[in-house]
Amino acid sequence: MPAEDKSLLEETIGHFRRIARENRFAENAAVPHDADRCLVCRPEKASEDPFTIYVEVVARSIPERRPALDEDLVAAVNEDLALYGESQTITLGDLEQRKEEAMEAWRFWVRNALETGLELLSVHSPTSLEFSLEDAQGDPARERFVDEKIRFLTDAILGRKG
Ligand SMILES: [Zn+2]
Repeated sequence: MPAEDKSLLEETIGHFRRIARENRFAENAAVPHDADRCLVCRPEKASEDPFTIYVEVVARSIPERRPALDEDLVAAVNEDLALYGESQTITLGDLEQRKEEAMEAWRFWVRNALETGLELLSVHSPTSLEFSLEDAQGDPARERFVDEKIRFLTDAILGRKG
């Protein structure tokens, strides 16, 4: 990645992480910033696939609100399960022990969190793009990138295993 790209990407990520930290991600469109240096507003300024830029921005912002595994996070995972009609629930211990069913529920939650973030970025500005994780389907590079981000979020929030 060219150096100028990298600094714009870091600036963009920094802006959205700050917003997430202040719990203003949902109203991100209303937060003033230099749109000319924002890769969500101006994805054409980067040489990379805009999908990966958007997913990266969301993935780096999520830990600001969910820095670590706690009961609150477990409740959020269970809420997602219930929302999708799953009767199963998981416990903090299940996730700590990385039980397979709990990890499935976890990955489901992470994908939903990424999806929600992408939805919020789509209304960021008149020039921001609309993406969903479905846009990765059938595109091996994008699919690999999403998997990588799910692993990143698992390590960042649940901690590295072993
Ligand atoms: Zn912007």
